[in-house]
Amino acid sequence: MTMNNVGRPTGPGAGGATAGHASLTGGRGLLQDEPLLFELGGWDKTGVDFDSAEHDASDLGDLVRTAAIGLAGLSEPETMRHYVRLSQKNHAIDLALYPLGSCTMKHNPRLNEKMARLAGFADLHPLAPVSTAQGALELIDRLAHWLKTLTGMPAVAMTPKAGAHGELCGLLCIKAAHEAAGQGHRRTVLVPTSAHGTNPATAAFVGYSVTEIAQTADGRVDLADLEAKLGDHVAAIMVTNPNTCGLFERDVIEIARISHAHGAYFYCDGANFNAIVGRVRPGDLGVDAMHINLHKTFSTPHGGGGPGAGPVVLSEALAKFAPAPWVVHDGTGLKLVEEAAGEAAQAFGRMCAFQGQMGMFVRAYAYMRSHGADGLRQVAEDAVLNANYIKARLSAEMTPAFPDGPCMHEALFDDSWLEGTGITTLDFAKAMIDEGFHPMTMYFPLVVHGAMLIEPTETEPKRELDRFCDALLALARAAKAGDAARFTGAPYLAPLRRLDETLAARKPKLTWRPDPPALSEERAQVLAS
Ligand SMILES: *Cc1c(COP(=O)(O)O)cnc(C)c1O
Repeated sequence: MTMNNVGRPTGPGAGGATAGHASLTGGRGLLQDEPLLFELGGWDKTGVDFDSAEHDASDLGDLVRTAAIGLAGLSEPETMRHYVRLSQKNHAIDLALYPLGSCTMKHNPRLNEKMARLAGFADLHPLAPVSTAQGALELIDRLAHWLKTLTGMPAVAMTPKAGAHGELCGLLCIKAAHEAAGQGHRRTVLVPTSAHGTNPATAAFVGYSVTEIAQTADGRVDLADLEAKLGDHVAAIMVTNPNTCGLFERDVIEIARISHAHGAYFYCDGANFNAIVGRVRPGDLGVDAMHINLHKTFSTPHGGGGPGAGPVVLSEALAKFAPAPWVVHDGTGLKLVEEAAGEAAQAFGRMCAFQGQMGMFVRAYAYMRSHGADGLRQVAEDAVLNANYIKARLSAEMTPAFPDGPCMHEALFDDSWLEGTGITTLDFAKAMIDEGFHPMTMYFPLVVHGAMLIEPTETEPKRELDRFCDALLALARAAKAGDAARFTGAPYLAPLRRLDETLAARKPKLTWRPDPPALSEERAQVLAS
């Protein structure tokens, strides 16, 4: 394998010379090896021709550039092709199933995109006078109404910009409520072992200490352990329902009851609302606060870090602490409550500068309206059906972590079926790439050994589910038949093979520093003159 000057594997060999047939150029089918934009160079060129400036540079005084600008001087087609080639290296929900569990990667209807691009939404400035933004405020208000209706909760804070941001919002409401009630000494948050990492991280960020609640053998919160850990020091419990094992917390009403009896609030991580929307209202279960990942449950694209939107529904007890702003009707129209005064006197503050992720609001609202109430119910039913179909088919070769009974929206397997093969969950996932499938979530939740968490969502047709299951079953049979090399060296067919992911995460190279590019004589003269 050859390395380029920044240590990136490139050229022939990078794409898998071990795959049996290596190309001469590093190209693979019609996919080409792609250097960085800066490696394409062209330091002393530009992609456009300008006439010489009429006025000389002296107008700029000491602002005149004395060194090269350091941008690759590429033409439009070169630049365009670079980015299109990069996009071809990335897996996308528009290409195939994206089986990541806990992520809800579902198809995003193009109608949503069309609506979000309407000029009245897309071009609206967040500081525009509210009299000129009535339509946008009405959309926020209607979306809030749907969220309250679907969850059975009386209030919603719309501005948090992701699930984790929503958790922060919910815990800050809880903290404000405890302090207002003279209960500020409550400094502990209880979190089950299987929780998403954001739950304990959020609690710690707010300044709480975190205590783990044990899990039962069938993957649910251990009630006896919860009861033993509750007390006058506990501010809240954070429980995901359905939980990250893809299971419904059967005792959720009892969890709420005993938590309340000990003076703690019940924060529900609602990232998995996809599985119960239209079927179960969290408000009926005793939930005090729950974020909804609009970018999961209600489509809207995500991945790669955003954008998201994580509105938080709140119980009566927490509503008055909700952050500003929010939309109200004042008889003449809609306006925003921005100041912590009057009815907003107890608001804990703000979560963001403006009104939240408007583009996500439009997409989520379009998704809700195009499904209707009955359609949203079917979303949950189909998501659960699809996950159970996968669980049933893959159980022929793989071991479900919780074999008894159906799962909710995601199917969870452990690695006990790989025992004795010399193949790990990671190897298996890498071999999936060679078969044209993005891997599932691996090694999460932590409570399941070598976990493989698969979430198909409701938008996958049966044909795609079968294609996926057929591939995984074939791989599983190969693993059991002793074909270890297929796995331990995989992926063979991807543009890059096994990367040092830990090093990449711990020491990311986020900038590329060229050797100072030499200026051509002609350019040097232009700059000097
Ligand atoms: C995705 C997810 C989160 C975090 O949501 P973000 O929008 O990524 O911040 C929290 N909990 C669970 C269970 C999730 O799946």
